[in-house]
Amino acid sequence: SAVPAIDFRASLNDEQYAAVTAEPGPLLVLAGAGSGKTRTLTYRVAYLLSKGVRPGEILLLTFTNKAAKEMLHRVNDLTGVEPNRFWGGTFHSIGHRALRMFGEDIGLPKNFTILDADEAESLLKQTVDAESKGFFKDKTNPKPGPLFNVISLSRNTQLPIGDTIEKYFPQYKDIAYLIPPFAVAYEKKKREQNVCDYDDLLEYWLRLLQKSPSVTQYFSERFRHILVDEYQDTNTVQAQIVDCIATHHRVMAVGDDAQCIYSWRGADFENIATFMDRHPGTAIHRIETNYRSTPEILNFANRILDAQPHRRAELAKELRAARGHGMRPQVVQTMDDREQADFVIRRIRCLVDEDGVSPSEIAVLYRSHFVAMEMQLALSRAGMPYHITSGVKFFERQHIKDIVAFVRFVYNPADELAWQRIACLLPKVGEKSAQKIHAVAREHAALMRQDLIAVLETDDVKTKVPKGALDDWPSFCASLSEVAETMRAAPPAKAFDMAVNGWYGDYLRGAFADYIDRLEELKALVGFASRYETMQDLLAQIVLLNGETSDRQVDPDAEAIKLTTVHQAKGLEYDVVFVIGVADGYFPGRRAIEDGDVEEERRLFYVASTRAKNELYLCYPKVATRAGPGGMLLEPSRFLKEIDASLYDILKPPRRSYW
Ligand code: ATP
Ligand code: MG
Repeated sequence: SAVPAIDFRASLNDEQYAAVTAEPGPLLVLAGAGSGKTRTLTYRVAYLLSKGVRPGEILLLTFTNKAAKEMLHRVNDLTGVEPNRFWGGTFHSIGHRALRMFGEDIGLPKNFTILDADEAESLLKQTVDAESKGFFKDKTNPKPGPLFNVISLSRNTQLPIGDTIEKYFPQYKDIAYLIPPFAVAYEKKKREQNVCDYDDLLEYWLRLLQKSPSVTQYFSERFRHILVDEYQDTNTVQAQIVDCIATHHRVMAVGDDAQCIYSWRGADFENIATFMDRHPGTAIHRIETNYRSTPEILNFANRILDAQPHRRAELAKELRAARGHGMRPQVVQTMDDREQADFVIRRIRCLVDEDGVSPSEIAVLYRSHFVAMEMQLALSRAGMPYHITSGVKFFERQHIKDIVAFVRFVYNPADELAWQRIACLLPKVGEKSAQKIHAVAREHAALMRQDLIAVLETDDVKTKVPKGALDDWPSFCASLSEVAETMRAAPPAKAFDMAVNGWYGDYLRGAFADYIDRLEELKALVGFASRYETMQDLLAQIVLLNGETSDRQVDPDAEAIKLTTVHQAKGLEYDVVFVIGVADGYFPGRRAIEDGDVEEERRLFYVASTRAKNELYLCYPKVATRAGPGGMLLEPSRFLKEIDASLYDILKPPRRSYW
């Protein structure tokens, strides 16, 4: 037909070629990072087309929609077939399409809308408030965020709530019996409002397939070939969806158990091990050559997995490098975050100006967002365009803006925008009542010749405070006065610290499931503040940096340096990779260390290191700035210490003076 001849033999090694050209049937490609799994999947699609399979008969499931698009573009280059003729994307996006078509079969009206994570959480909160007044008032009960996680994990693993709690959330054991009715009520509420949360897109899709034989038949007849990338990160529901559609067993799954990094979302690499039972006659293909990285990077990466306590012999694999020699990974020790950022920037300048590396082939990876703050600031100052893959930039994150507004209001109580931002965080306070409170307080303060913050607790002002906010009001006002007092007597960082530890800290705990991470970020902000001597300078700098970083936020395909969490970098590759914050407590993170289980973090470190093609830098600061003046000493990551020191070089860049 129109498909041009492709020389599969020449483009693939023997192992890849065998997988690409295998007879229709269940196929499992198990191989380490950079061995060409995604490439194999891409060529498999091209191969199927060359055998006369139509694009509409192929279902391609990938980890991001972008990944699907890229693969289909590649197929387009190879075969000339337009990407939009395939069904390709994430489980969620394909589930959404399926539900738009057949959702009515399970009682889901055609015009349902989708809630984002925040909206879903607040709907759950409202539901629980209506079911059981005071549930969230009891400090020992989970907040809406954690409660949502319990229910969500139980759905993604298909474990009853009781079992989920026993296994993953033992701290809620005593109240486990309270939660199933909440889940039921939440379900009912969503149905009444004709809305779906993200988990529904998967669960309803599965339910649809299980309940409606005609729909299942439709999909399995339509999608005669199913291909799944990153199979190690599928959860129970996703694996079941694939099984339901693939009654014909023409399914190819590729994965690497060593890269399973989403178990906190229910991903279970056991799905790989049980694939063969669920699809009898599975042909297993292993690829042991790595095409991505230099032997030096690969030797290092292979050793990361050695220290795994439960290495499974049958899944173990040692990657051989196909490429020529390069430089050893560089472990870079700097004094603090600031020097770390400084090193990265100077090195990037060299790479771009002298070695001709394209900025878009350079990535800075980190375990958690807050680690990247200093890096963002430094890149902005240096005028280097960068792109952050994982959403919102530091100073635009909600809690950062909240706390800045809090301090800004104390600094200037006439600042109504700052006031509105923080007042609206109180229950039942909206823009209108925030305005009214502010107006009355202003009048009253003028009349009494007093500070605005000092009059907030007078009866006149309190009459304007909505009833629902009165419980919080005293601690809210107390925190404002504390911060004001600190601001008069101490350096700016102290005022920020005080704000974080006051009313806002409690608010944060209640408002966000990931409040521990956000708290870390707020502490990072305190560290940043400690460099400024006056509040005026500090606040001005934040505004300026914010504007500047917005300009620097360029479109993802531009020639810009990539900043990304390791999770988001999965499956991708770059010429040069800097991993920053490779210190115990950052990577592995503090929580994993406290929980005594760092295995998922180790796999994450393996994912990070295997993104690099030519150069890999593992940087850590000796002192954490976020602990404030005096700092806190950091140890290099235990993952580094476990690796033979002959496999990397240690670099101690000369200290620089900033003044
Ligand atoms: P990950 O585990 O990180 O997802 P992967 O196994 O999917 O990695 P790919 O991204 O498919 O690996 O391939 C890694 C790199 O090696 C890509 O740049 C790819 O083009 C290249 N590559 C793979 N196989 C070959 C080959 N046979 N010949 C030349 N280059 C190859
Ligand atoms: Mg891949």
